[in-house]
Amino acid sequence: MRALVQGGGTALRMTASRFRAEFKGSPSLQRALFRYNHLMMAQISQTAACNRFHEAEARLARWLLMTSDRVHADEFLLTHEFLAHMLGVRRVGVTRAAGNLHRKKLIDYSRGNITILNRKGLETAACSCYGIIRDLQKIAQV
Ligand SMILES: [Zn+2]
Repeated sequence: MRALVQGGGTALRMTASRFRAEFKGSPSLQRALFRYNHLMMAQISQTAACNRFHEAEARLARWLLMTSDRVHADEFLLTHEFLAHMLGVRRVGVTRAAGNLHRKKLIDYSRGNITILNRKGLETAACSCYGIIRDLQKIAQV
């Protein structure tokens, strides 16, 4: 297994044995992790279908919105190379899709710094997968 951190910030860590002990003794931690696991599986399934059926521009819009939601900001760093890896397309495909979103005045980007200029417009440009995953997360928070 390989973990990939997509953004900067602080994090905590603990040993696996300590984690297992905490998990066994904490029903609230168990519920939170089961909920997280359920959402992650749903997101993976949706992303697999998305990568097969939706165009790169719509997938890029979805990915940028999801990133914005996670970092709680409309401006963040993501290189075209990283986006190409996450979207399963060549770098030139990301450049083309980002150029289209830029021409529609939905995003601005320079040297990996991406700014969402028009969130509603970007939501319209995104495939339906963004709303599906966002709604699943809302349901799971109840
Ligand atoms: Zn999609």
